[in-house]
Amino acid sequence: RLGRMAESLSMRAYAVGGFVRDLLLGRTNLDLDIVIEGDGVAFMKAWEREGYRVSVHERFRTGMIVFPGPRKVDVATARREFYEFPVAQPTVASDSLKHDLYRRDFTVNAMAIALGERDWGTLVDYFGGRRDLRRGFLKVLHNLSFVEDPTRVFRAVRLEQRLKLKMEENTVRLLTSCVRGGLLSLLSGLRVKSEVEILFHEALPLPAIRRLREFGAWEVLFPGLAVDSRTDRVVRRLTVFFRRLHRDLPPLEASLWLVYLASLLFGSDEAVQRSVMDRLHLTPAERHVLSLALFSLGAAENDLGGRGERRPSEICRALTGVPLAVCLFWAAATERQRIRRRLLLFLTRWHKVRPMLTGRDILDLGYRRGPLVGKILDALLTARLDGSVETREEEIQWVLD
Ligand code: ATP
Repeated sequence: RLGRMAESLSMRAYAVGGFVRDLLLGRTNLDLDIVIEGDGVAFMKAWEREGYRVSVHERFRTGMIVFPGPRKVDVATARREFYEFPVAQPTVASDSLKHDLYRRDFTVNAMAIALGERDWGTLVDYFGGRRDLRRGFLKVLHNLSFVEDPTRVFRAVRLEQRLKLKMEENTVRLLTSCVRGGLLSLLSGLRVKSEVEILFHEALPLPAIRRLREFGAWEVLFPGLAVDSRTDRVVRRLTVFFRRLHRDLPPLEASLWLVYLASLLFGSDEAVQRSVMDRLHLTPAERHVLSLALFSLGAAENDLGGRGERRPSEICRALTGVPLAVCLFWAAATERQRIRRRLLLFLTRWHKVRPMLTGRDILDLGYRRGPLVGKILDALLTARLDGSVETREEEIQWVLD
């Protein structure tokens, strides 16, 4: 439909970038990016007239169409040159598409698939992306790639590790001189933050963290940072938690990257930790999570430790108000087994326990509205956490007693 709509407007549509790469690899990728040869803004407005939600950046001629699902399609414009006639040669892609693809990062990301009625499915591959993908190579499109945009260092490492590609020799050389030349330190804090965030959302961030260490990238980004075996150990534990406990762990989507960031900073001096927080322009809320994770681990170990049995309600009380992301980091960072076990029980079970009775039920049992109701519910929660009540009937009996 995208291709047909483009043709009805005398334009052409192509799927591009990561979507094409992943399609050729047989990997699922739900982010569809398309390039319109013609006027992307007019293309999106046509969808808007059909009742679809679109958001358009007129200045960049880019935007997004939201299809039911919801499924978003990102749209960019490759300006057509005046001498190119619309849909004249449907199987031959024009220079404007080639320019668009040449501005991209790696050959494997610089392929397109035509979406027109007649050329539907035709692969456009000017730079040998398919061959590189087959041979398992990650390769920049030209020698100035990393100089033009040093965030590609992160992108290279992420893609190499995720897709199990091998960085081609010249690309390694160019990446190394970009890092050694200090270009990463020229990136704004917000760009670094965004790249670090994306990196830590990878399913397995450890290989990418290590690879960036091999290139000396962390040291350039955050001088004095000690990314060592402690980082590895904590990150490895997090990965194990996610693999084994993913069904029971609370969803931490937005703050997950902070848990990894805490792991990255764990082995460094406090002064370095604070300067990284400044460099990344963390929000006050993010700073709070990270500071608590890094600076209160010792205090938490004291609160949660103890040789004898600790009742679940005591652990829950000790962790009241602590963000779950911080608990998760502590569980990975502590070297004390017993404390790790308690934190994991809190995260997977206890933190979500609530009494079965509600405030309304307590009133129905004859109590008056007031602070006592809250106290009863608190005590009921303690009883439930510690196993003194299990069923609703037992809760009612417990309140009446
Ligand atoms: P991921 O699966 O991590 O999202 P992706 O390749 O789809 O990988 P996006 O960030 O969605 O990544 O980018 C889409 C496409 O845009 C890429 O495939 C690439 O062609 C291009 N691109 C993105 N960032 C850059 C960049 N910094 N320099 C050049 N091209 C880029």
